[in-house]
Amino acid sequence: MPLENNNLLVTNGWINGQEITAKRLFSVVDPATCREIAKVSDLGAKHALAAIDAATDALGAWRTITRDERKRLILKWAALIEQNIQNLSEIVSLENGKPLREATGEINQCVALLRWFAQVSENLVGETLVAPNPSQRNYTIKQPIGVVACITPWNFPAAAVIVKAGAAIITGCTTVVKPSEETPLIALAFAQLSKQAGILDGVFNVLPCKDPVDVSQEFCRSEDVRMLSFTGSIPVGKELYAACSGTVKRLALELGGNAPFVVFDDAHIEDALDGAMGARFYNGGQICVGANRFLIQQSIYQEFAEKFAARVKTLKVGNGFDENTNIGPMINPSALKRLKSLVKTAVSKGAEVIIGGSQDKDRTLFFQPTVLTEMSPKMDAFHIEIFGPVACLYSFKNEAEALHLANATSAGLAAYVYSSNQERLARFSESLEAGVLGINSANIFANDLPFGGIKQSGLGREHGMQCLEEYVETKSICMGL
Ligand code: NAD
Repeated sequence: MPLENNNLLVTNGWINGQEITAKRLFSVVDPATCREIAKVSDLGAKHALAAIDAATDALGAWRTITRDERKRLILKWAALIEQNIQNLSEIVSLENGKPLREATGEINQCVALLRWFAQVSENLVGETLVAPNPSQRNYTIKQPIGVVACITPWNFPAAAVIVKAGAAIITGCTTVVKPSEETPLIALAFAQLSKQAGILDGVFNVLPCKDPVDVSQEFCRSEDVRMLSFTGSIPVGKELYAACSGTVKRLALELGGNAPFVVFDDAHIEDALDGAMGARFYNGGQICVGANRFLIQQSIYQEFAEKFAARVKTLKVGNGFDENTNIGPMINPSALKRLKSLVKTAVSKGAEVIIGGSQDKDRTLFFQPTVLTEMSPKMDAFHIEIFGPVACLYSFKNEAEALHLANATSAGLAAYVYSSNQERLARFSESLEAGVLGINSANIFANDLPFGGIKQSGLGREHGMQCLEEYVETKSICMGL
């Protein structure tokens, strides 16, 4: 059992710098083995209120210490995360199922993000403006927005916490985090390290809970919570959007995607295949920017499909702790059931399975890496997030049809295009309805690159300077002399 000697395995909630136990417990399960990893305290509405109070009380001290001191503490937190990378990666791999190598990459990303936030927080400054008359001075200041509630998903259980809480904390906000019920352990481990780093009690609180609704509703209702930062599915994002209207709090919504991956016949096909493998199969396909709809020009459709299937055949499905594993399990039985039904329905309507297509034999939550051809935009799979290791190939005749199909969804998070025609790429860059584009590249993340969706994929940006701006208010000051 990889967690036996892991001193960062904590199973209680975390409020005001203290572990909080609850009478009710819930199981966190390793999706690779379906065995229980730990029983975790199941916190509820009253704990949510206590955590909001702790964050509100901590705000006065945290927002008024110097920026340099906040930076020093955040950098200490980053250093402790880096020192504990093995234990933290094991926690992520075990509760999420992803390959240990990818979990380590995610923890490294957390360290890099905290360091980047610390570095660029110096650039969050107000402006001095030219006043309309000589006896007045007009200027702006940036102030932390206040208490930020963060609700995070299971697919990047570490990075989703750090990108929100790290940005909020460096700007002088305090936070209450509700991690996914599938993966609460990594947020609790981060809480231990925040205390060791000397981050003030009450600045980073964590509320594990089995049923997210009660705790989340307290966040939405609270006048003290000035911002809700949510990453998750579009339907839940919409519910939270509506629930926050009563308190008119700021919202950051990082929601689901339905990325097109367009390949023209003048593309460098091997580059497109490299990109396709990453964009569809990284994190077992359970990723918001995953290539959900491969749109392949008719003249190269067959060639692309065959070469893609040959590469997919080499992917190894298995336990994340096996170093040969490329694809871990689906997160839970309902995710597996949903994926199986999606493939079955597509096949019943004419799709062809050229590789994979079913649950991996003898293993409960594993699904074979799959390529489906002969897909049609009339099928459900065109319109919903697949969120698993299944690639769906559609064909198009010309540029106009490719653009129409690419934009024919209500989501708009990521989109990818491969072509060697620079003018066409320029046209697509401007016409694709998505917040993040990969143009002859599937490498679409960087600390300084704003990340987020348009249309129903969300509001606001994470990463980039814009991310820090989300957590501050700009106050305009007009001073008569
Ligand atoms: P989810 O919406 O089911 O859950 C996300 C979070 O919301 C979890 O903490 C969950 O406990 C909570 N939640 C669920 N139902 C709720 C409710 N009724 N009220 C309040 N809170 C509720 O999503 P998920 O399955 O954890 O994650 C996968 C989804 O997240 C996908 O749609 C994916 O695209 C999206 N996602 C988006 C990004 C992005 O940056 N845009 C990143 C990662 C994941």
